[in-house]
Amino acid sequence: MHPKPVNKMSNSKHAVLIIRIVFLGALILVARILVPRLIANFSTPRPATQNIFSLNRERNDTNSTAISSKARFEPLVGPWIVAIQPGHWKVEELPDELRRLRNSTGAEYGGLREVEVNLRIASILAERVKAEGWTSLLVPATVPPGLQADAFLSIHADYGNGEEREGYKLSPPFRASPASRRLAESLEDSFLIEKGLSPDPWHGLGSPPKSPTPPTVNMRGYFGFNYRRFEHTMSPYTPAVLLELGYLTNPTDRARLTRSPEGYADILLRGLRQYFKDHHRRTEEFLTPLSLPWVSVAPNLIEGALIRISPEPNSSILWSLEPGTILLPVDEKGEWYEVFVRARFATGWIRKSDTRLASDPRWPMPGEAPNNGSATAQ
Ligand SMILES: [Zn+2]
Repeated sequence: MHPKPVNKMSNSKHAVLIIRIVFLGALILVARILVPRLIANFSTPRPATQNIFSLNRERNDTNSTAISSKARFEPLVGPWIVAIQPGHWKVEELPDELRRLRNSTGAEYGGLREVEVNLRIASILAERVKAEGWTSLLVPATVPPGLQADAFLSIHADYGNGEEREGYKLSPPFRASPASRRLAESLEDSFLIEKGLSPDPWHGLGSPPKSPTPPTVNMRGYFGFNYRRFEHTMSPYTPAVLLELGYLTNPTDRARLTRSPEGYADILLRGLRQYFKDHHRRTEEFLTPLSLPWVSVAPNLIEGALIRISPEPNSSILWSLEPGTILLPVDEKGEWYEVFVRARFATGWIRKSDTRLASDPRWPMPGEAPNNGSATAQ
């Protein structure tokens, strides 16, 4: 049988049609890729909602504790954005990189769970923040990668051995930016003017630090702040504070935490208002964390280097450390570094001249590995 000429005509028409469809499909595909990029490039300012979780970062594998050069500074726009994290909320959903913290469900005492207290206070604060005309984000334990906000509060309640320990404490992250420090000060001021609330007294060695609310290593090394090691953390440029509002184990604190969550939300809101009076979201320097190198105890110090409780030559001596001991500087003041000493799971101050530059030993940060000494901020 011979094919009819009509069919031949039909086949070539089909071929042309298919080519046209393929061409049109390719055109649509190219347009779908290019157009959003063009819109993103030319529409300024961008809405705040597009910016919040968009910071692109890469792990920092250099021997410095500096932030990655891939972390771009992108000022936020629109109303202030306040990220509020009820501590341990949805902790079981943590991603694989943080899987060893999935059972970190927080403090629990007498049937009262910390996460319930945290969530209630955080939810009330979120409403208060909205009422101010600001944007509030309720953030679970899994921090959206590169979370950008004008303030990030991680809200917790504490657990003490025995009923005696009482009071609040709060802290910015290790190597805090000027913004994080000021946010912590504003919140602390708000606590201090509140009648009937007391800061957690100092239980360390030597003379008490100047701050009435001594932070713990676990607070300052909180995993949600640790953008150097993890993907699911805030942006380095997000001002952040972790708060321990009180002790579930103390009768006075427990009563207040459960009966007056609004009171705590009001204290936090007052601190935020104070902070935003002098917030500089477009000033990179204000929002950039301290950048400090890894160091070790200088080899020539055969007798060891002295670690002191504060950056003063006559302050109490905490420990003497052997030459070569690796130290993580977390703060500095004049000729002094505050260093995290892994073997002690604590920090102290060392003269910069007693140290040498070292490479990153890749040991876990505080907050990366559960610590028996604390039931908080893990
Ligand atoms: Zn906690």
